[in-house]
This record gives sequence, C-alpha cells and structure tokens, in this order.
Amino acid sequence: MAMQLKFVGATRTVTGSCHYIETGNTRFIVDCGMFQGENEIEKLNRVAFPFDPAALDFVLLTHAHIDHSGLIPRLVREGFEGKVYASAATIDLCKIMLLDSAHIQELEAGWQQRKAKRAGEVPFEPLYTVDDAERSLSHFEPVPFGQMINLAPDVTVRFRHAGHILGSAIVEVYLHQTNPGAGPASLSEPAATPAVRAEEAKIVFSGDLGNVNQPIIKDPEFVSDADFLVVESTYGNRVHEDRMGSMEKLRKVIQDTWSRRGNVIIPAFAVARTQDVVYDIARLAYRREIPPVKVFIDSPMAVSATEVFDKYRDRDEFDVETRALIDAGGDPFDFPGLQYVQTVEESRSLNEISSGAVIISASGMCDFGRIKHHLKHNLWRPECTVLFVGFQARGTLGRRLQEGATRVKIFNEEVAVRASIESIDGYSAHADRDALLYWVKSFRTKPRKVFVVHGEEEATEQFAAVLRTALNTWVGVPERGDTVDLASGQTTVRPAEKAAEHAQPAALKATRENLERAYDALLRSLDRREASPDPRALAATQDEIARLISMMQRLAQEDRTA
Ligand SMILES: [Zn+2]
Ligand SMILES: [Zn+2]
Repeated sequence: MAMQLKFVGATRTVTGSCHYIETGNTRFIVDCGMFQGENEIEKLNRVAFPFDPAALDFVLLTHAHIDHSGLIPRLVREGFEGKVYASAATIDLCKIMLLDSAHIQELEAGWQQRKAKRAGEVPFEPLYTVDDAERSLSHFEPVPFGQMINLAPDVTVRFRHAGHILGSAIVEVYLHQTNPGAGPASLSEPAATPAVRAEEAKIVFSGDLGNVNQPIIKDPEFVSDADFLVVESTYGNRVHEDRMGSMEKLRKVIQDTWSRRGNVIIPAFAVARTQDVVYDIARLAYRREIPPVKVFIDSPMAVSATEVFDKYRDRDEFDVETRALIDAGGDPFDFPGLQYVQTVEESRSLNEISSGAVIISASGMCDFGRIKHHLKHNLWRPECTVLFVGFQARGTLGRRLQEGATRVKIFNEEVAVRASIESIDGYSAHADRDALLYWVKSFRTKPRKVFVVHGEEEATEQFAAVLRTALNTWVGVPERGDTVDLASGQTTVRPAEKAAEHAQPAALKATRENLERAYDALLRSLDRREASPDPRALAATQDEIARLISMMQRLAQEDRTA
C-alpha cells in the first residue's frame, strides 16, 4: 500500500498551511490555509491545488486562523464534497472568520475589478464569495478532543489540545492496513483500541503550538510518539520574555503613553491575543497599577470571538487560573472602563479621542479592517504608542512599522511615523524556541523523521539545526511539493545540518574562562575562611557572591531580551 505525505503550504513561510496525505484507499488534507503577506506569497492562493478537491475524502482542520482555514471555501467551490473535521470551538470561530475573510475577498475583488475594467483587462474574480464561505460551513463536523476516531477504514485520528487559540488542536494521524473492525467514518463509536503498529505509520501534526503559561487557554498537551512529526517554527529562533515581563512592559507602555497624553493603539488578532491583552489590562486595572485609561475593543470580529469564548467558559479549554477567576464570580473579559465597539460610527468617533485611550483593533497584521483608521490618526503623533502583541508576517504594514519605517502609506496617503513603536512577544499565541524544543523532546519515542514548517526561512532553518542537535534524529525543512513515502520513510526533503556547536566568538570564550577562574578563586577563599572564621571577612565574601549572582541575573535578563 502506498502511503504518501506531500507538503503543499507553510513551507519556509508562516502562512498557507496545508499537508496532503494519500493511502491506497483514502485521500485527505490537514489544514487548507490562506497565504498572507508579500504579493509573491499571496499569488499562491490562486495557484491550482496539487490534488483534485473533488477526490478528497475529508479535511482535518487544526484551528480557525485564516492561514490554516482560509482556503476551505475555495476548496468547496472547486468541488470538495467531504467533511471538514474540527473541534466544536474551531467551527464556531470559523463561522466568524471565514465569513469575514469572504467579505474581504469580495471587497478586494470589487476594487480590482474596477481597476481591471479601466485598464481594459479581463475581469477579476474574487477568490471566493460570502456564498462560498456559507456553503463551506455546512461541511464542518465537530470532533471531540482526546478520542480515537475512525474516519476511513485505514485512517484513525485523535485531536489533542494545542494551547494556541480556543479550540486549537494537535492532530495525531494513524494510517494502518485496512482495520477490519472499523467501518467508514463513525464519530459516535470511537475505536475501542487504536489499530496499532504492524504496517502502519503515525504522523503527528503540531498545528500551531501555544505559548506555555499564557493566560486563559490551557498549555499544549504532550504527545508520546510518532513515526513522522510535522512541527511549526514561527518563533523557532526567538525566546519570549516571560509572563511577568510582558505584563510589566504592558503596564509601562500604558503608563508612559498616559504621561505623554497620547493613545495606545494595539493591532490585535481578533482571536486569542485580544482576549489575553484585555485579561492582563483587567488585572492591572483591578490592582490600580495603571492610570484610569478607557479601553476600546474595536473589532466586530473580536466582539463575536469573545462571545465564543464566553460560550466555552465552563469547558475544559481554559487554564486553572482563569477557571478560578470565573468560579469566584470574576469576568476575565470585562472591567470598568472597557467598551466593546460595534458600529462603524462608534469606531469613527474614537478618532476624536486624543489621549487616555487604549484602542485594541483588528486585524492583527494591520492590512484590513478598522485598525488602519486608528493608525492613520495616531501614527504621526509622537505622544502615541503603537504596541504589537502578535507575529507580523513579512510584507505586512505591521512588519514594516516594526522594522522602523519612517513613512508608510495608509489608504493611499503618506503618514509619517512619529509614535513610539513597541512589541511584546510574551502575548504571542505561539510557543517560543525553548517551548517548541521542550515539546518535541517530550516525545518518549523519538520520531523517525521531523519536518519543520510554518516559519520564515531563518526561523525554520535555525530551529531545524537546533532540533537535529538536541534530538540526534533526522530533521528536514521541506520545500513546497516535497514528498515523504510514509512506509519506507524515503523523502525528497533535504536533511538539515547540525547546529554549529563551537561557533562561540572568542570574546565569549574568554569571558567563560574568566568566570570559571573567578568561581575557583571564590571557592578557595571560602575554604580558607571556613578554616579560620572571621565574621567581617565572611560578610565581604557574601557581598562578592551577591554581586556575582546579580551579574548572572543581569546576563540572563539580557539573554531573554536579546
Ligand atoms: Zn494560528
Ligand atoms: Zn498559523
């Protein structure tokens, strides 16, 4: 039986997640995401799928983000008739996000259409319409977390919590020679035992993995084994500041901007980040650690997403801390001074506020939605702050601002960038390098092959090298179109190099040697003092040690912020 995995998207880039699997009997994909960012990347949204949508048996969807779900309406438009299996919360979020995405497609196409007409060119078709999106939603079918589910005679899957956004999943896929006990897709009767080993392969898709110790949502679940692992690497070469550091930076940004009499503008992804930031502002406000700012959540999509969060507040999606807060009668998404903005008029009226406001607005990467208006009105004012709390893909307005652009174009108008531009990684919905590494290392049985996807070139390459060294197993970074034979393990993916282990610059080496010498000297002097105790000398030694410790803490701090 031929079993093959093909990499279709999110290869050496963060968007367009899609992985195609075929066995002798079954064809399916994991995720069907939209490409976002630079023009060259976005063109891929219109390239033919390297499989026949009508011949697919089903889709497994890890989570609702558009870079994972955004091309499902196009898949349906092109003849896909099967089911899209996802968690219940993912389906609820997709209802909001896919319709929103379809609106944007129609708006953009209308604009392009007029341009094409004027240029005498062929009419421009939207990628998909609101109708397509609505039709695609009828294909969605909820699956529970943690249960073995037979979706085809030779395919069993299990969704595990990924801790990334509400409803997000790691997907375990078991491919086996036709399992006699299993009929076709039967959600009501989970397989009694997973059909294991023999002629089978287990592939684990990490999906997007959450940050550990983030507020609200659970941490990612650990997986015990896989033959093949496909793992994300958005922050594969970065280490986030910790939770306390993030909250402290948030406090400082709000305080400083308040003192300068400006506004804080936070471009946030509608899902996850908005709720996390609101949650921390709520905590700071309750403790009176920030001035009495007015907080506006200006995004109809974020408002609906928060309603979905509300719906799941009793479920086990939330972490212990948040459940405790809810049990105590608190509301993680509400506090005095918080306003949800629904209508366009309300949104426009925010432009008249010159100071004391924190405006959290979609979309995260600044390219669509109301955030553009808020940027236009605040970016040129040095007293204001634009605070980024999520990953900004290459080619987006958000990324240009982060990279220090001094002028940007918004609605065809040049705007000078004078506001201070700040970023907090700690609110990222993604695990950082160390958390990713920890998650992969927790596999009790090492995967035969690990494929690193969903990251920009440098992040994937560097993370692959780190993994290769840490796991001492085969690791590779696939290109679009690369394949893996899931029976033999043969692949067209080029293996990653090991990380250079002795690439430390000479200065670092010298510092290390000095530190080791100082440590030895200190130990020797302690030994001497133990032999003839003198309280004053001992106190002096203790001072030395305290200074050494504070130096080490400062170095550790620098490492974290580097
Ligand atoms: Zn995501
Ligand atoms: Zn993603």
